[in-house]
Amino acid sequence: MREHPSVIVVGGGIAGLTAALNLAERGAHVTLVERDSVLGGNARTVCCKAIAGECQLCGGCLLGERLELIVSSPVELLLETSVARVERDNGGFLVYLEGAEKSSPLRAQAVILATGFDHVDAHTKGPYGYGILPSVTTGEEMERKIKEEGQGAYDALGLHKVAFIQCVGSRDEHVGRGYCSQVCCRYALRLARLLKARQPELEITIFKMDIQNSGRDFQKTWQAAQEEGIRIVAGLPAVIRRSSEEPRRATFVYDDILAGQIVQEDFDLVVLSVGMQPRRDAEQVAELFGINQDRYGFFAVGDDLISTIVPGVFVAGTCQAPRSMAEAAAHAQQAAEACYRYLQELAL
Ligand SMILES: Cc1cc2nc3c(=O)[nH]c(=O)nc-3n(C[C@H](O)[C@H](O)[C@H](O)COP(=O)(O)OP(=O)(O)OC[C@H]3O[C@@H](n4cnc5c(N)ncnc54)[C@H](O)[C@@H]3O)c2cc1C
Ligand code: SF4
Ligand code: SF4
Repeated sequence: MREHPSVIVVGGGIAGLTAALNLAERGAHVTLVERDSVLGGNARTVCCKAIAGECQLCGGCLLGERLELIVSSPVELLLETSVARVERDNGGFLVYLEGAEKSSPLRAQAVILATGFDHVDAHTKGPYGYGILPSVTTGEEMERKIKEEGQGAYDALGLHKVAFIQCVGSRDEHVGRGYCSQVCCRYALRLARLLKARQPELEITIFKMDIQNSGRDFQKTWQAAQEEGIRIVAGLPAVIRRSSEEPRRATFVYDDILAGQIVQEDFDLVVLSVGMQPRRDAEQVAELFGINQDRYGFFAVGDDLISTIVPGVFVAGTCQAPRSMAEAAAHAQQAAEACYRYLQELAL
């Protein structure tokens, strides 16, 4: 192989970090381009869900491990930088950057796109009153609050009844998101168990229409949650309103499908389990590199789930489809391996 082939990784979340480390270990010269001022992407707000020190295998630790490795690796890091223009160059790519210290374009034989996802904006689910009702929050906000304030963040709020509502903004073809976001069942169950462990008297209900039961230890977590008294209701509320009895509470009517009855109930806190959507600028990034998007707007790939229609451009992590951190990292390892094989073939 040509000595030290060059690869550009776009995006410094868990997927981009993993792909960059993998290729650097194989001897490639890797430049990681991150538009934010820090690395880590969306995983930075994922909190630790260990219960009294016992790990719930949420995957949150992965980021710290990767960040430690990247700073001592030969990967060249360009923060607050994004891609402005891309030209083909002798079978490879000439990538012009924006905001970079480097003024000259980068030459690379291959590119890995790892630009990640945007959180579904809960405002778009108008009937759930997010942004209007003070007792309605999102899973993202709960993760962030616990990450910033510690596991006791909800202890002193005087909560008695908490509801989690699943599939908010996912599995909904009417809004162009017919896919499952993969992670919201897992994070909601783990957050619910964490809250319950800290405040055993708290009544917690998870409203679901379906459950995504893949991933490490899901069945164990699911069973443990129910044994601990977390109630699961099959059915989602159509509308959430301010409680007429206690304005700080939220009230909703739901059809409990399994119990076969219509129920009205008040909650002190309602957590909307928001999922993932393609980045708002995914179309511009796809255009820059000449790749396609799928019907939802994620980057389109071949059967291997990592190759695009442009030879030498690979994708990794949640820019391709929703995934957990461990799954995004595993996908990035596959992308790096495919990219390495491509570089080897180029050199023949
Ligand atoms: C509410 C919520 C809770 C979650 N909880 C968990 C959990 O408990 N456990 C778990 O395993 N997973 C969890 N996840 C999923 C987890 O956040 C993702 O798996 C992970 O962040 C995906 O990493 P990524 O690298 O694919 O994308 P991202 O984290 O989105 O990283 C992409 C990076 O690319 C950068 N970027 C984007 N566009 C450009 C561009 N054009 N140029 C340069 N840089 C760019 C971004 O700034 C970002 O740093 C949760 C997700 C949600 C929505
Ligand atoms: S995997 Fe999750 S729960 Fe376990 S220690 Fe790491 S961050 Fe905490
Ligand atoms: S992971 Fe669960 S909550 Fe999220 S979209 Fe899939 S089924 Fe719904």
